[in-house]
Amino acid sequence: MGSYYKHTKTETVHIPYSFRCEQCMKDSGTQNAVITVQAQLNSNFRHLSEGKQQKLAEMAHAKLVKAVKDARAEAAEKQVYAAAFRDECPHCRAPQSWAVSGAKKDLFTVPVILFVFGILLGTGCYFTLENADRLMIAAGCAGICFALAAAVLIFNLIKIGKKKSRTANVLQQNKPVIEWSAVQGLLEER
Ligand SMILES: [Zn+2]
Repeated sequence: MGSYYKHTKTETVHIPYSFRCEQCMKDSGTQNAVITVQAQLNSNFRHLSEGKQQKLAEMAHAKLVKAVKDARAEAAEKQVYAAAFRDECPHCRAPQSWAVSGAKKDLFTVPVILFVFGILLGTGCYFTLENADRLMIAAGCAGICFALAAAVLIFNLIKIGKKKSRTANVLQQNKPVIEWSAVQGLLEER
């Protein structure tokens, strides 16, 4: 394997939003959802050529456009709000019912990544090591990842359960008001 350099480019956008707290009924005031994406390009060179730099920038931008479009589609069509739209009331710290569906959507994201990583790490160990006990080492590495995946899954389930129970008895369920017009330019890109 030749050595290579990892070049990354991060793009961020702020989307203003506000909500009326379901617990204390106060207006949250303008909050900022921060959506961040990162593109990556591997190269044999420490410095990217101008063309490659531009390609990397375009990749990052395309990712950002997709993330914003996805967030809007999920919010508009399914009332599922991305985690970037934090639901903690700035006055009383209470969570809001509209954030439960978003938390449910993210339930498996990290556990699945850990699980897949465990499989890759396990097989990687098995096929690259030459020790007699490589199977044990491979199983151990994979096992740690699987245990972590299970722990995160349980943690997420507890978190969702708490949010659900704390928002179950509100008198009126509200929804956040998101100022998509602030990112109109991105939404209109193809
Ligand atoms: Zn509140």
